[in-house]
Amino acid sequence: MNLQAITPGMDKDEQEHRRELCVAGAWLCERAFVVATDGNLSLRIGENRVLTSPTGMSKGMLAPADLVVTDLDGSRLEGHRAPSSELQMHLAIYRRRPDIRAICHAHPPVATGFAAAGMALDKALLAESILDLEFIPVAPYATPGTLDLADSLRPLVTQYNAILLANHGVVTFGPDLLTAFFRMETTEHIARVTLVTELLGHQVLLSNRDVERLLASRNRPCKGTADAPTRARTAESPAEEETPRDRRQLEVLLAEALRSLNDRP
Ligand code: 13P
Ligand code: ZN
Repeated sequence: MNLQAITPGMDKDEQEHRRELCVAGAWLCERAFVVATDGNLSLRIGENRVLTSPTGMSKGMLAPADLVVTDLDGSRLEGHRAPSSELQMHLAIYRRRPDIRAICHAHPPVATGFAAAGMALDKALLAESILDLEFIPVAPYATPGTLDLADSLRPLVTQYNAILLANHGVVTFGPDLLTAFFRMETTEHIARVTLVTELLGHQVLLSNRDVERLLASRNRPCKGTADAPTRARTAESPAEEETPRDRRQLEVLLAEALRSLNDRP
């Protein structure tokens, strides 16, 4: 399979969308953002048509014929497999964000560690990341595969394009599959860099002025989102207290994340 094969934009036929969704599934596995049958992907391929990965299969082993088409209410229109158990979460995002055409859900180990610690990725640490994902919040815990999970995201979906799911994983979305996938990569990258600075015991946050300049350089108050975002914490934000338990939690998370990465073939 050609892994350079996802192109931006949505002006494609359904076969192309199916093939690209399978490629993105393989990328999720390759980067260890999912293990076993974790994660799911979807594409809004029509006004009332959503193409989604099937439930319970490795997302690295999907063939185009394994995919399922549903309507926006979740009724299956095409496909012989059952759709993802997180279909309701995907549909809730599409309903609230007409600009969103692709959704990626995964369990990347470091970002998921932050989600399990209940810690948002909310610091102005990385210039490039500020431009797209300035603030990544944590949605409260809800049981995977239930409507409660879709409900837990509802207040955040209009403001953000990447959300940590407490004690579970990450969901990212965008106007096309490549953007949704890149936002998953960026979220994991921000989590890794944040973790390293936490372990070093030192963080130099960008200033308000630095952040304003960055946003002005792209001429955007809030790229790709419907509402004004919450600003990242900058050098001028009030200092937060670090407790010894926070440090210990992070060390355990890092050890686990490295172990899981090293264990992969
Ligand atoms: P599915 O295989 O049903 O899509 O579920 C994977 C998952 O990550 C559930 O949260
Ligand atoms: Zn999941």
